[in-house]
Amino acid sequence: MNRVYNFSAGPSQLPEEVLKEAAAEMLDCNGTGQSVMEMSHRSKAYEPIIAECEALVRELMNVPENYKVLFLQGGASTQFAMIPMNLKKKGKAAYVNTGVWSKKAIAEAKKYLDVDVIASSDDKNFCYIPKVEKVTGDYDYVHITLNNTIMGTHWEYLPDTGDIPLVTDASSCILSEPLDVSKFGVIYAGAQKNLAPAGVTLVIIREDLIPETMPVENAPTMLQYKIHAEGGSMYNTPPCYTIYMMGKVLKWIKANGGAEGMAKRNYEKAEYLYNYLDNSDYYHATAEKGSRSIMNVPFLTKETDPDAASAINKKFVAAAAAEGLVNLAGHRLVGGMRASIYNAMDLEGVKKLVAFMDKFAAENK
Ligand SMILES: *Cc1c(COP(=O)(O)O)cnc(C)c1O
Repeated sequence: MNRVYNFSAGPSQLPEEVLKEAAAEMLDCNGTGQSVMEMSHRSKAYEPIIAECEALVRELMNVPENYKVLFLQGGASTQFAMIPMNLKKKGKAAYVNTGVWSKKAIAEAKKYLDVDVIASSDDKNFCYIPKVEKVTGDYDYVHITLNNTIMGTHWEYLPDTGDIPLVTDASSCILSEPLDVSKFGVIYAGAQKNLAPAGVTLVIIREDLIPETMPVENAPTMLQYKIHAEGGSMYNTPPCYTIYMMGKVLKWIKANGGAEGMAKRNYEKAEYLYNYLDNSDYYHATAEKGSRSIMNVPFLTKETDPDAASAINKKFVAAAAAEGLVNLAGHRLVGGMRASIYNAMDLEGVKKLVAFMDKFAAENK
């Protein structure tokens, strides 16, 4: 069997140990004679699985007592609507526009309240994180996209929002490094980048932000945080197997040093790659220093003619795949290539990528 190094932006590579364990338990989990896929979510066999997953989220992220940890469905994209529907009070929210996912969150929020875009990096194709001074005003919350998966940028500071709850989409950087949960009102993340296979969305929400009665009319039951909080993420059938997988990934993170361990591993990988890019006369990173993601690294070759660049990018992606380095095509909005190097990617994979890049550069200069 030949496993590839998968640089996909998501769904992405999972730790091999986790996959092996899941495979070993496929037909019989913990002596139950069943696969987790077949278990009732209300059974004695399943209860500890979801309970342990929540306990690990709390432990690894140091989640304060007054926050709920929810396992929801519908992806981060559903949170784009749930946030404004549930957090609306006065009727206005502030958003920072740092690219595609921010824009989608803004578009969805506008259906439920007034949106002020208080800062944007639109002027330079979102290659940096704007400087946001202290946020004041009549806002129900302030929303940022912590890591911009497509643009390869990341917030290296958090804006000071005073008493206004800070809400963040952390889909592509959750548990990649320590995060002070108490600085946020809500943190949400689709699991398929750093936590699990697709199908579950982690939501960490300060309890006082969960409304007793929904501020918007006719809100679907499934889009009310209160329903999920009271039901312990079991109002309806949760994505049982995905939560089980998340529990395994979290155990792997714990065994590898927790959030601090991930940060060490991730900065080492990212620095190795950026260092190569910054010293190359053939490639360059697109994200500005001071705003760079340690998870998603978009880069271009020095070819500036659009047709020639497109041809060389295709050649790069195909040649890399032939060497077991897959899913390196860049997003069309940035062009070039993108290496997503989430938690499960090891330094070895990044070293292999850099060695390949160097060979490709020499052959195509
Ligand atoms: C992948 C991604 C999303 C979309 O998540 P879904 O779970 O597919 O809805 C949203 N925001 C960010 C930052 C992402 O990386």
